[in-house]
Amino acid sequence: MSINNTAMFKLSYGLFVLTASDGRMSNGCIINTCTQLTQEPLKISICVNKSNYTHELISNSGVFAVSILSEKAPFDIFKRFGFASGRDTNKFYEFTDCEIGENNLPHITGNFSNAFISGKVIEQIDCGTHTLFIADVTEAEVLNNDKSMTYEYYFANVKPKPQPEKKRGYVCKICGYVYEGDELPADFVCPICKHPASDFEPLK
Ligand code: FE
Repeated sequence: MSINNTAMFKLSYGLFVLTASDGRMSNGCIINTCTQLTQEPLKISICVNKSNYTHELISNSGVFAVSILSEKAPFDIFKRFGFASGRDTNKFYEFTDCEIGENNLPHITGNFSNAFISGKVIEQIDCGTHTLFIADVTEAEVLNNDKSMTYEYYFANVKPKPQPEKKRGYVCKICGYVYEGDELPADFVCPICKHPASDFEPLK
């Protein structure tokens, strides 16, 4: 069996905020697995990690909403819904970019999303770490014609790039030799061109 895991990166995905509620408080998480299954009747599926609080809420309530993120969604949306757990934070705290749908669940508004789809679960399939929820579509609306955000777009344009670590040191003005360190010893002599410390300047 030959499996190159990076082949998975060639699959194209959208990015979505998945919302659900315990009847009192709503929660949401980021998923990349929402797919239309059939047209007649209209069915979709979502696949959710069992460790997500949203998973528990959907499992119990049987309803959810999927907001399709557009390319206008900033990194803050991913931080709010993706990098914290709804078990210990209220992800909708002071969050105003949402509206309530017919199923009483919030969906992201048109600033960051181009459509939302609400579902009522008709089947749950245990996939090990995840559960595949199959649902009838109970509401769907287009908010605007902004382009849907893909996983690829997110990595290329939204996710902050790690900053390369700044090297501290001194460079020899004569030959370019770099001394690495916070402080250049006063008696330092360039090992290449033999010039003294006074011919060195701090790295920019
Ligand atoms: Fe030198």
